[in-house]
Amino acid sequence: MSFKDKYRRFRQWQRQPFDYHDSHDHHGCCNCGAESDNNYCPRCGQKAAYGPITWHSVWQGVMDVWGVGTRSLPYTLWQLLWRPGYLIRDYISGKRQVSFPPVKMLVIMAVLIVLMYSLLGFGFEASFDDEESHNAVQGFLQGDFYNWMERHIEWAVLTVFSLFIVPVWFLFRSAPRLPRHTLPQGFFIQVFIGVQYLLYMMLVTLVFSMIPQISGSGDEVAGFMTMVVLPLMLWCDYKQLFGYGWWGTLWRIIVALLLAVTVAKILIHFGGACYGLFVGDGSMGFRYLLGGSDHLVLMWLLLEVILLINTKPWREGVSWYKFLTRPLLAVAVLSLTAIACNLYGIENSIVNLTESMQEMFLP
Ligand SMILES: [Zn+2]
Repeated sequence: MSFKDKYRRFRQWQRQPFDYHDSHDHHGCCNCGAESDNNYCPRCGQKAAYGPITWHSVWQGVMDVWGVGTRSLPYTLWQLLWRPGYLIRDYISGKRQVSFPPVKMLVIMAVLIVLMYSLLGFGFEASFDDEESHNAVQGFLQGDFYNWMERHIEWAVLTVFSLFIVPVWFLFRSAPRLPRHTLPQGFFIQVFIGVQYLLYMMLVTLVFSMIPQISGSGDEVAGFMTMVVLPLMLWCDYKQLFGYGWWGTLWRIIVALLLAVTVAKILIHFGGACYGLFVGDGSMGFRYLLGGSDHLVLMWLLLEVILLINTKPWREGVSWYKFLTRPLLAVAVLSLTAIACNLYGIENSIVNLTESMQEMFLP
């Protein structure tokens, strides 16, 4: 078989790996004796493929721990390596049988990765400057919260990827292959991507553990994951899942990243404002409230710009001022909040966002 044929077969498998067919032979059920020619007994629901106990049943019994058949954990992970976006679309459009239950899969992967790290003797070193954590909220984020994240990898991954649910829902709402996906569907998209992230993290850790200069540090794995693996992973996933081209997928992912960082900042600031009110520190509460509002306005501006790009007023030949009113209003309000932030000595959202982006892309 030529390479071209192999590739064509691979593409076909990527899009449609499952071939369901009836058994077409008349048989009696091993459990209740009812006669049928279906894959499952119509009376008691037992699988027709279950015959008397044999060595094959022993194998199946053991593999049952990881799920059986198309729903098995190994096969789902295999699919996540080679057809991630297609698998996710299959699952969220109702084909539950194609995948191992995703949330369960995330928890199992987190347990496996903790096991792997302790076996290999890998560890993380928290790299926070002491002078930075001068206030209570930052102290909490870099202390208790960070420790909690380290001990509960599955929830940490879910928390981080959950920040993408709303941005992805907004940016990909008119996608060619999956138009108008819902927020609950968005949740499962992020769970699958979280599992995939842990899967790649395992593979990268395995490779890194064989290189003597690197072994022993989880930080290097984490750096390689965010710099190289994660961007490529997201690019492939969202392209397969939503059906935009390479470029259309790329800019949406970058904007989704900007929005996700902004969402995180908004949550942190308003969390800080609540904390300030709770401990009765009014000035701290006010500072966080101002910083949070500033980030909220930035998010508004970003959304307006995306809407403007989507409406394409330059192509329709309609009047610009009709479409520019709201974005310009957002710019004006953002300038006001930035000035207010400067007056109170708080970093404004644009400076903050630029710094986060630099941290992310330029180590
Ligand atoms: Zn039966």
